[in-house]
Amino acid sequence: MKRVVIIGGGYAGVHAGKILHKAFKKDKDVSVTLIDKNSYHTLMTELHEVAGNRVSEDSVKISYNRIFANRTVNFVQDKIIGLDPKKQELRSETATYPFDYLIVAVGAEATDFNIPGVRKYGLPLWSFDDALRIRYHIQEKFRQAAKEHNEETRRKLLTFTVAGSGFTGIEMVGELIEWLPLLCEEHGISKDEYTLLNVEGMGKILTMFPDGPRAKAQRYMEKKGVKFMLHSLITEVKEGSFTLKNGTVIECGTLIWSCGVCGSKQGGDWGLTVGHVERLRVDEAMRTPEYKNIFVAGDLHWAVENDLPVPQIVEAAEQTAAVAAHNIIHDITGKGEEEHFKSNFHGFMVSIGGRYAVSHTAGISMSGIPAMAIKHLVNCYYLHSVAGVNAWFKYLKHEIFQIKNKRSMLGGLIAGKIQGLWAVPLRMWLGLMWLFEGINKIGEGWLNRPKGSSSSWMFSSGVLQRGMPGYGNAAAAASDTVSAASDAAETAVETAVHAAADAVTAASDAAETAVETVVHAAADAVSASSGIDAAAAVDTVTAASGVAADAVGNAAAAVANTVTDAVTAASGAVSGAVDAAAGGAHQWGPIWDLDKTVIPWASGFVTWFREVFMDGIAAHIDYVVFQSMVVTVECLIGLALLGGLFTFPAAGVSIIMCFVFIFSGLFSWSQVWFIFAAFLLLGGAGRTLGLDYWAQPWLKRWWNKTALAKNTYLYFDEPRFKKGKSKFKNKG
Ligand SMILES: Cc1cc2nc3c(=O)[nH]c(=O)nc-3n(C[C@H](O)[C@H](O)[C@H](O)COP(=O)(O)OP(=O)(O)OC[C@H]3O[C@@H](n4cnc5c(N)ncnc54)[C@H](O)[C@@H]3O)c2cc1C
Repeated sequence: MKRVVIIGGGYAGVHAGKILHKAFKKDKDVSVTLIDKNSYHTLMTELHEVAGNRVSEDSVKISYNRIFANRTVNFVQDKIIGLDPKKQELRSETATYPFDYLIVAVGAEATDFNIPGVRKYGLPLWSFDDALRIRYHIQEKFRQAAKEHNEETRRKLLTFTVAGSGFTGIEMVGELIEWLPLLCEEHGISKDEYTLLNVEGMGKILTMFPDGPRAKAQRYMEKKGVKFMLHSLITEVKEGSFTLKNGTVIECGTLIWSCGVCGSKQGGDWGLTVGHVERLRVDEAMRTPEYKNIFVAGDLHWAVENDLPVPQIVEAAEQTAAVAAHNIIHDITGKGEEEHFKSNFHGFMVSIGGRYAVSHTAGISMSGIPAMAIKHLVNCYYLHSVAGVNAWFKYLKHEIFQIKNKRSMLGGLIAGKIQGLWAVPLRMWLGLMWLFEGINKIGEGWLNRPKGSSSSWMFSSGVLQRGMPGYGNAAAAASDTVSAASDAAETAVETAVHAAADAVTAASDAAETAVETVVHAAADAVSASSGIDAAAAVDTVTAASGVAADAVGNAAAAVANTVTDAVTAASGAVSGAVDAAAGGAHQWGPIWDLDKTVIPWASGFVTWFREVFMDGIAAHIDYVVFQSMVVTVECLIGLALLGGLFTFPAAGVSIIMCFVFIFSGLFSWSQVWFIFAAFLLLGGAGRTLGLDYWAQPWLKRWWNKTALAKNTYLYFDEPRFKKGKSKFKNKG
C-alpha cells in the first residue's frame, strides 16, 4: 500500500487530489489523503468580495465533502504542526500521519517585512477569517462614527487605508468604493465625510499590467474618489495611524495590509530548504532538494523561471500541483517520463468592485463589462472542474442573480425575486390545463383507439381550442356565409329573369306565328271570295308582325340584362358592406395568428421528427401503451402541479412534453405559455402552499446520499453519507 498525502486543500492541493483520484481510482494499493485545517476549500480570489460585503461568506467556501465524495481521495480536517521527513510522518496536535509521498501545499501568508506595528494593527487579507475580520471591523468603525460628535475623531474613524496596490489591494479598494457610500446611507453619515486612501511604495499601481489597463483602472478609481499616495513607503504602524518614510503621519481608523506575501511560515520549521521569503525551494519536478518523495506546490514553492520567481497566482498553483501529482504517479506506476514545470500563464484580471474590471489576457487588454465577464467565465470554468455544474451555478447566483445593492456587472437587472405566493395561482392553472388535457384525451378514446385520437395524433384539440375560435375567424365565416347567400340569390334572380325573357320571346314568337296563320287564312279567304290577290298585303302584314315580335324579344332581353346587372350590383354592395363590417371590427386585422402551429405540420423538420424520431420510438412500443403513457403523464403533471408535489420534475417534464409537441407540428402559438409558466415554476413554486414544503427536504436527503449525485456533483446542498460510511474525519 502506497500512501500519498497532500497537506493544504487550496487551488494546488485540490488540483493535485483530482489528478491523483483519476490515476488511482481503480487501484486498491494506493491511498490518497488530503489534510486541511478547514472543512472547506476557500476561493481565495474572491475574498475581497466577502471583506467588502458584496457577497455572503458561504459563497467563497466549498466543502471538501462536496469535492471528494465518492472519490479516491480521503479527507481529514486537521492542522499539521510538524513534519519529520526522515520518518515520513506528519504531526498534528492529536494525530500522526505516515506517508510515502507528500505534497506540501499550505499556501502563503501576508508578510509584514518586519515593519513595526503591522502585525498588530494592520488587517491582512489572505484567508477567510481575515476577510470576515475586515468586514466586521469596517462595520464597527461606522457604528462608532455614527455616535461620535467630535469632528476630528469622526474623520479619523472614517479614514480607510489600503496599503499595497497589487491585485489584492486594488480589488479591496474596488469593494470599498462601492460599500462605503452604502454604509454612509445606513448610518446617516454624509458621503463627504469618509476618505479612501491607497498607499503604495512604488511609483505605479498594478505593476503586472501594461500601461493601458493600469491607467484606466487608476482613472476609474480616482473618479470614484480614491486618493492615491504613490512613492509612499510605510515605516511604522500604530493604533489609529501610520508613518511614511518622509515622516508624514496619517491618522486612520482602518489599515488593510496587502503589501505582499511570503510562504506559510510553518514550512520553515519542517526541515525543508527555504528559498526566499519563506517559500520552500524545489527543483523543476517540484521535488524538494533533499527528499525525492516530498513535493511542494502552489504559493509555498520557490522556483525561478527565466530569472524571475514563479508568481503566487492560481495558474501557477495548479500547474505546479499538476507536475507534482504526475511525478508521484510516475514514481508509483513507473509509467511515462518525469515531468518538468514550464509555466503557461494566460494573463490577469482584476475586479474593481462588482461593476468594473480590467484584464490583460492572451495579449489583449480589456476593461469594463468584457473584462468582468472574462473574470466570471474563468471562475466558472475553475468551479466546474472542482465541483461541477452547481458550484458555478451557486457562484453566479451569489455574483449576479441574487446580488444586493446592484453590485454586479448587470447591476440588479436580473436580481429581482418573486415571492412564491404569486406563483401559486399559475401553478394551479397550469396543473388544471394538463389534467384537462389528459382527461380530454381519455374522452376522445386515446386509451383504446389503436390508430390515434380523432382530433390529432398527439395533442388533443383540448380545452384551449375547442369551441373557442378567435373573433377574426367568426367574422370571416359570417362574411363567407353572406357572400355565398348573395351569390345564390344573384344566380336565382338571374335565372328567373332569363326564364321570363325566354317566356316573353316564346310568347312573342307564338303570337307572330298565330298572326301569320290568321293573316294567311284571311288572305286566302279574301282571295277566294273576292278574287283579289291579297298576297302582297299578307307579306306586308307578316313583315310587320316579325318586326313587332323582334321588338318584343329585344325589349324582354334588355329588361332581363338590366335586372341581372342591378342584382349583381346589389349583391356586390352587400358583400362590400359585410367585408367593411368585418374589417371595421378588426381595425388592422390580427397581427399574429395564434392558432397557427409554432412549426408547421408539413415542414421538413416536423416530418422528420414525426416519421423518423417519434415513429421510431413508437415502433418499439405498442400504440395503445404509448398513448396511455402520454395520457398518464399529462394527468400526473396536472395532479403534481395542483398539489405542489414534486413541482420541479413536473415542470421539467411539462417543458419537455411541450417541445415534443412543437417538434411534432402540433403545438399552436396560443399554447406556448405552457412553457414559460413551467420555467417559472422550476424555481421552487411547490414549497409555497404545496406538498413540496415537506417532500423536498426528504427528497434532497435521499438524493444527496446517492452515488449518482456524488459522481456528478449534482447535489442539492451538501452530500450525505450512510452511518459509519463517511471517509471524512475531523481530528482537529
Ligand atoms: C484577495 C485575493 C485575491 C486574489 N486574486 C487573484 C487573482 O485574481 N488571480 C490569481 O491568479 N490569484 C489571485 N490571488 C492569489 C491566489 O489566491 C493564490 O495564488 C492561490 O490561492 C494559491 O493557492 P495555494 O493552493 O498555493 O494556497 P491556498 O489557496 O492559500 O491554500 C492553502 C491551503 O492550505 C491550508 N493550510 C494552511 N496551513 C495548514 C496546516 N498547517 N495544516 C493543514 N492545512 C493548512 C489552508 O487552509 C488552505 O486551504 C488572490 C489572493 C487573494 C487573497
